[in-house]
Amino acid sequence: MIFESLAEKLQNTFKKLRGHGRLSAEDVNAAMRDIRMALLEADVNFKVVKSFVAKIKERAIGANILESLTPAQAVIKIVNEELTELMGGTVSRINIAANPPTIIMMVGLQGAGKTTSVGKLGTMLKKQGKHPLFVAADVYRPAAVKQLQVIGKQLDIPVFSMAEGSNPVTIAEKSLEHAHSHANDVVIIDTAGRLHINEELMQELKFIKDNVHPHEILLVVDAMTGQDAVNVAESFNADLGLDGVVLTKMDGDARGGAALSVKAVTGCPIKFVGTGEKLDALEPFYPDRMASRILD
Ligand code: GDP
Repeated sequence: MIFESLAEKLQNTFKKLRGHGRLSAEDVNAAMRDIRMALLEADVNFKVVKSFVAKIKERAIGANILESLTPAQAVIKIVNEELTELMGGTVSRINIAANPPTIIMMVGLQGAGKTTSVGKLGTMLKKQGKHPLFVAADVYRPAAVKQLQVIGKQLDIPVFSMAEGSNPVTIAEKSLEHAHSHANDVVIIDTAGRLHINEELMQELKFIKDNVHPHEILLVVDAMTGQDAVNVAESFNADLGLDGVVLTKMDGDARGGAALSVKAVTGCPIKFVGTGEKLDALEPFYPDRMASRILD
């Protein structure tokens, strides 16, 4: 389970604190050292860890926790609130266009779970009464187009595609005409992924962005890749400007560093998490619930 090791370590730290009754400054310092280590071992970005622990310490001193009747509880409450804040505070939703269709562009590296996430988002939006259109703009891998068509068929969601070799910008533009004439109120564009970030990929994504003006650009990253996921998010955000992140494979045993670092490092909120291979395994990301999952 994700966060398993981090949760265990933090819970141990708090158990030690609770065992002390009244706390000394040294008890609190020791707890801060433990928290710092636990976060680093969970693959949280080191700058994020540093400022996180500094903030907890500052608040603990400010709240005069040593004088508190239940000092351990007071520390836990602060850690819970700061973990929630670190992950974005409140749930972030996608931008819905005032005049449909809402255009969502999905970007990411190959294997992150982008095409599956297109399917999952379509499932979620359809349940909300929307009429999505999927757009197969990954022209380099015929298998990707096929994969999206299979998913579309399974979900009874139409898939817009063009002949092999078509230009992805043209595909995206034509798909909007199709959406207008078929009353699709959400258009989800599945863009090409590559194994690594490169100039060509970014240029293509920028062209699509500049021509179709998406309301939402979502980056799909794999939670299992830890800090790599955060670095990928940083690059995509710098080049393209992201509205949010979909963090996939949260059902695996990722240490959790990506979930805890993405917002702080990039400023982009995690909007959804993928929790399985099935097409309904997508959930909005609730920072407070995630923090409680780590601490309870
Ligand atoms: P893409 O190359 O980014 O389009 O990636 P795919 O959508 O083809 O997904 C790559 C693999 O990851 C597939 O085997 C998916 O079933 C799997 N996958 C995607 N999202 C999740 C998730 O949230 N949890 C799990 N366990 N597997 C996922």
